[in-house]
Amino acid sequence: MKSVSRVFDPPSGHWVGDGFPVRSLFSYHEHTDAISPFLLLDFAGPYEFAPAQQPRGVGVHPHRGIETVTIVYHGEVSHQDSSGGGGTIGPGDVQWMTAGGGILHQEFHSPTFTARGGVLQMVQLWVNLPAASKMTPAGYQSILANQMPHIDLADDAGTLRLIGGQFGDHQGPAHTFSPLCVADAKLNAGKEVRLAVPAGWNTQVVVLEGHLLVGGQRVGPAQVINFERAGEDIALHPESDAMVLLLAGQPIQEPVVGYGPFVMNTREEIMQAIRDFESGKFGRMEA
Ligand code: MN
Repeated sequence: MKSVSRVFDPPSGHWVGDGFPVRSLFSYHEHTDAISPFLLLDFAGPYEFAPAQQPRGVGVHPHRGIETVTIVYHGEVSHQDSSGGGGTIGPGDVQWMTAGGGILHQEFHSPTFTARGGVLQMVQLWVNLPAASKMTPAGYQSILANQMPHIDLADDAGTLRLIGGQFGDHQGPAHTFSPLCVADAKLNAGKEVRLAVPAGWNTQVVVLEGHLLVGGQRVGPAQVINFERAGEDIALHPESDAMVLLLAGQPIQEPVVGYGPFVMNTREEIMQAIRDFESGKFGRMEA
């Protein structure tokens, strides 16, 4: 069994544009090796928005060298990008965007959610790309709630929803570039939950709702448990019904150099990304 390496406590929040009040629950700026192949996770809300006329969000901006995975739990988000990808996703839906060699996108509350107002709760995860795939063509995968396999956990411990990568013999719908598992799970109070994760992989469990005992520590919403690589499963003991995100993957053992929306392997590649963006090589899109 994998033992707990550390628990990340949530930092204070900041706004991304005027639409996303987030806390960055982990980031490669502090924990590159322990969280690879993941780079950062922004947990937005839960936050109640009043009805409005103009959609709130963040306007056109670039990315290179990563994938961004947006999982909506409450509210509705509309996305558009320069690869032609786009659409509106609501509770339970996921968008998996591959920035690869370069993409422009914008992220706003949907027109319906803007007009109606209500609670927004969502996650945006950045997944690193291996050096060999950093310049892959940009792409967009919309994964609706009913397109994901739901896996019943042993002993009526709960249900896991596989978004991307592999969990045991199951394969998630999102195409990925390195071996990993992105899943969320509803866990039942009072059960012992064992989740299989290959030896050698990094593992994070993000608590979205509820409280759990993990390795003798009590954890709650917006805390992240980071596990050691050795061992072939993790054990969680939900004290209440709980909702968690499971992020596991084979570490990408390559240098990580990031600057804002670009994450590459060298400083030269970052300078090139800035030049390519400024000279219009990331494509075009109307604001
Ligand atoms: Mn973005």
